[in-house]
Amino acid sequence: MTKPRLLVHVCCAPDALYVFGLLAPDYDVTGFFSNSNIQPREEYELRLDEARRVARRAGLPLLEDDYDPDGWTALTAGFKAEPEKGRRCDVCYASRLSRTAVRAARDGFDAFTTVMSLSPWKKAAVLNRMGRQFAARHGLTYLEADFKKKDGFKKSCELSRAAGLYRQDYCGCVYSREAAREREAARLARERAREGE
Ligand code: SF4
Repeated sequence: MTKPRLLVHVCCAPDALYVFGLLAPDYDVTGFFSNSNIQPREEYELRLDEARRVARRAGLPLLEDDYDPDGWTALTAGFKAEPEKGRRCDVCYASRLSRTAVRAARDGFDAFTTVMSLSPWKKAAVLNRMGRQFAARHGLTYLEADFKKKDGFKKSCELSRAAGLYRQDYCGCVYSREAAREREAARLARERAREGE
């Protein structure tokens, strides 16, 4: 039986490694790296290289979108101060999902999805709602998922560690990088305070 052609939006290699393995038995999977949220460029290149490595390892094709960080920054300019999981993230999800839907329709895929719901920092219900909307607009099916369930996130960490993959310490945008640095600085300050007690 022919498997449905599924375009899987990939945000990073560790998430892709786990999700590709989960979906490949039932779908004809192609990855799609579309992440203009990632800054700086060196970080973008690093994550893209790792995604290519995972696709090669899985024997699956990986399509690559254009990189347009200025466009992404303009799109989210009104939401700079939002926390992670706030409204800036909704705009960010929508921009990447809509580009995936457009690409899937253009290239004749049956369905699309994203690996993003694997992260505990991502809202699966919001991703699924947006995915359904974009799918309806383009005459496609959206594969709804919450890949973090059934220990998905834990399993993906184990798999990516065993494969020696790069695992980023911030989500992708400059705002999330700043927040991660602040969290790390606060952690170090707490540690120093404990040592001084
Ligand atoms: S924190 Fe992550 S999901 Fe949210 S806007 Fe930044 S890159 Fe996008």
